[in-house]
Amino acid sequence: LFVKGELAAGQQRAIEGPQAHYLGRVMRVGEGDAVILCDNFSGEWAARVVTAGKREVVLEIADHLRPREDVPDFTLCPALLKKPRFDQVLEKATELGVAKIRPVITRRCVADALNMDRARTVITEAAEQCSRTALPELFEPQPLAQFLREWPEDAVLWFADEQGPEDDTVPPAATAFAERWPPAGLLIGPEGGFDDAERDLVRDHLQARPVSLGPRILRAETAAIAATAVWMAAMGD
Ligand code: SAM
Repeated sequence: LFVKGELAAGQQRAIEGPQAHYLGRVMRVGEGDAVILCDNFSGEWAARVVTAGKREVVLEIADHLRPREDVPDFTLCPALLKKPRFDQVLEKATELGVAKIRPVITRRCVADALNMDRARTVITEAAEQCSRTALPELFEPQPLAQFLREWPEDAVLWFADEQGPEDDTVPPAATAFAERWPPAGLLIGPEGGFDDAERDLVRDHLQARPVSLGPRILRAETAAIAATAVWMAAMGD
């Protein structure tokens, strides 16, 4: 379980709310049982249940098991999608090991806002499920132009361009990714893709490099997840 604040050996922690429900009702922990905690600072810790009540489970922190992991500096920049599809992007990107998620708002976005608390819950649950010891950093959604203005000068911005197959200047993602090391980002369009003006804006950006994910038009969430997996594979992660 991920908890707020830094953990330390010997500390007692009261777990409340949905996490207490999960421990007490779903996992049915009792006094003396082992639980694994993570704090997103120092990494993973072994803890023991001191008391298990209906509303509160008290844990004592024991041994440090693993330091917080280092993940490659890769930022997934997906256009906002409708909730269930965007949840999939958040969940799978977390499993695949992205460092940051920077949602982008474009003209054809159907969704125009993101519930940040809910999104953090999806990310945290995905991290717990796959035993990540570092949560991806989630940014507030930004309009495309502002996002491009603020993109760091030292990072390449891969741009998944579905018009790639018609344009022989657009290389396949797997070949291109292997040529540039992190820090890197990957920009993915919304359900209806980027419009022509946005495509030109992205292509004119100094750090942006178009890449193709093949001849088929993938759903936006498939493109985000597949391209992230290809990037991780290219980096050997
Ligand atoms: N209408 C579908 C949907 O509802 O999801 C397709 C959306 S596709 C236009 C969304 C984004 O996925 C594109 O803007 C692009 O970034 C990426 N994408 C999809 N297929 C791709 C491909 N073959 N190569 C590169 N990028 C692709």
